[in-house]
Order: sequence, then structure tokens, then C-alpha cells
Amino acid sequence: LVARMRPFGTTVFAEMSALAVRTGAVNLGQGFPDTDGPPEMLAAAAEALRSGHNQYPPGPGVPVLRRAVAEHQLRFHGLTYDPDGEVVVTAGATEAVAASILALCEPGDEVICFEPYYDSYAASVALAGAVRRPVTLRPGDDGRYAFDPDELRAAFGPRTRLVLLNSPHNPTGKVFTAPELALVADLCREHDVYAVTDEVYEHLVFTDAAATHLPLATLPGMWERTLRISSAGKTFSCTGWKVGWVSGPAPLVSAVLRVKQFLTYVNAAPLQPAVAVALALPDDYYTGFRDSLQRQRDLLIGGLTDAGFTVLTPEGTYFVTADITGLGGRDGLEFCRSLPERCGVVAVPTQVFYDDAEAGRRLVRFAFCKRPEVLTEAVTRLRGLA
Ligand code: PMP
Ligand code: GLN
Repeated sequence: LVARMRPFGTTVFAEMSALAVRTGAVNLGQGFPDTDGPPEMLAAAAEALRSGHNQYPPGPGVPVLRRAVAEHQLRFHGLTYDPDGEVVVTAGATEAVAASILALCEPGDEVICFEPYYDSYAASVALAGAVRRPVTLRPGDDGRYAFDPDELRAAFGPRTRLVLLNSPHNPTGKVFTAPELALVADLCREHDVYAVTDEVYEHLVFTDAAATHLPLATLPGMWERTLRISSAGKTFSCTGWKVGWVSGPAPLVSAVLRVKQFLTYVNAAPLQPAVAVALALPDDYYTGFRDSLQRQRDLLIGGLTDAGFTVLTPEGTYFVTADITGLGGRDGLEFCRSLPERCGVVAVPTQVFYDDAEAGRRLVRFAFCKRPEVLTEAVTRLRGLA
């Protein structure tokens, strides 16, 4: 194995999902829903399979999906992208992130990201021979995660090539506020660097959040320097389909396509038109989806609090993080490895998403993208810890 990949073992999601299978525990580790997405989307996929959409689709993605992606961004965020040249379909957001970094970074270039960060980011940066510059998100007295603006300023330097920003943020559930985004945008313009935004949870911002979701590309001077990434997996409960997309100015998107064509070439021909159907669903779908996730969040938070965790209420995403100190826990990794035996529930230690593991030592992440009866069972088991 090449040196640049040696620091990366098996992903924590694979380890914890295997642990759940082995022990029969309720799996609140890996973030995947246990229900299927909208029936209209599933029917469209079945129809596409039956009607001959089974060969390589066009390199940038099928036109009907690229159009739907562009219309969706105009409808929800007022962002304008030309479906021909400014939108490319990818094998999930994961490929979009990897291809964007590989397309923009020379070896030695620096990528600023907020830690804890989604685990593929570090690997994609390493594959490009680039260097990550994490800025730490820490829970404040108000229960919200925040970064130190001076730490962010200090992260920018002559080798900074891009900022990789995930909001709503996995694993913290943080939704970056308008002033926070304005600072990120100011620094990107000042240092003339690109932004790559991972917005896979764009439709999962809860009604009691302090912020609404604001794509970085909507800020002044940012559209022209931002690659905006999203995917169908989270919004339409189809994480196994791996249909994502990246939008941005034509020169940047064509650079991504240059790389992408040699990573996967294309993917998911019969699923692409089905995702187009889903993107066009009326607003009711999106608000109903958010409301059910918010109820699931509250159910889980109640159980975690009763069990003795200190919960950091998420403003968005599929996830809640909690501090284990109240339960006598000192190390989240140890805690998560023993949790299935202690109470039959699997969670994910947040420390694995930090370079500064100490900052996340006592934090663990639970997924609530599960049916209420599954969460109720998990909560019953967790209460046994108290
Ligand atoms: N980014 C974040 C923040 C995620 O949480 C996930 C998956 N859970 C991804 C990217 C990957 O998305 P996809 O499955 O579309 O590749
Ligand atoms: N994004 C999902 C999570 O954070 C997992 C995806 C994966 O297993 N790679 O749980």
C-alpha cells in the first residue's frame, strides 16, 4: 500500500456496522435510513430498468437529471446553473468530493476543513498529495458547536488552495450561520481560493435551528469560485444508489469531469432519471421528510438524556452527538466498542473524525434516521445504562 494511504484503516462505519451485525445490536452508527424513499422515485427507477436504460449514460449524467438538479437549486436557493456544462452527475457526493479535490489540488496544496470532518475528506486530500488544515469545532456553553475565527484566519496561507465546507455538518449537526459563512467567504475572496461545499443534508435543517441553510455559493463573489455538491442518498433515503452531483462555473466543473471520467466514468443509468423525478417533488415532500426526522431526533434525545448523556442538540442532519462523561465514560472509542455488550446499541466515536482526537475524546454520535419503533427500542436499551 502506498505511504499516503497507510494512515487509513477500515472506515469506522464498516467496523461499527459489522459489530452491530455480530452482536445483534440496534445500529445507530452508520447513517442510513431503514425505510425506502418516495414511491414515485422507486416506480420511476423500476420503469427505467424495464425500459432499456441499462447502458452507459452520458459522461456528465443524463440530461433530465442535470436539468432537475439545476431547477432544484433555482427553486430552493435562487442559484442559477446551466445544466449543460455547469452540472455533472457523480457516484454519490463521495466521488464528487474526491474528484473536486483531485481536479483542483497540486501536491502540497492545502485544504482547509472543519473538524470533526466526514472521513472521506482526509483520504481524498491524501490521494491528491495535498495537506489538510483542520479548524476545530468545539461545543460552547450554549450547546452549539463553533470555531474560533482567529483559528480560521490563521489556517489560510500561501499554499491554501481550497476550503472544504460541510453544512449542515456531519457529525455535529451544526448548521453554519450567515455570519460564519460570511467570514469563510471573506477569507476565500481575500486569499483567492476555491470553496468546495458538501451540502448533502441541505433539506435537513430543523425548525428550531438558529440558522437556515445558506449555500456558500449564494454569498457575494462566491458562485464563481465554488463547487457545490449534493446527493440523493440523504434527501430521498436511498444511500445505496450513490447518485450525487456537483455544480459550479463551467471551467471548474469541466475540471471535475476530466477526473471523474477516469474514476468511475459514469454510474447508475436507470437511477438517474428516477432521482430527477424525486427532485421535482412538491415542497410537502421536503417539509414532511424534515418533520419526521425532527420527531425521530427528539425521541432519541429524550432517551439519551434519561440515560445520562449530555446531548448537543443538532440543528440538522441525521445525527446527534453526546458527551459520555456523565456516564463515567472517558474515551468514546472504548465506549462505543463496549456499548453493544452493555446495552445492545451501536454508536460511532466522534474522535475518529478529528486530527486533534483529544477534542472529540468524550463525544459519540448516534444516527436517528431510523423508524420510530427502532428508536424506541434503542432508547429502552439505552435507559438501562442509567
Ligand atoms: N458527505 C457527508 C457529510 C456525508 O455524511 C455523506 C454520507 N453520509 C457523504 C458525503 C457521502 O454521500 P454519498 O453517499 O452520496 O456519497
Ligand atoms: N455518511 C454515513 C455516515 O456518516 C456513512 C457513509 C459511509 O459508510 N461511508 O454515517
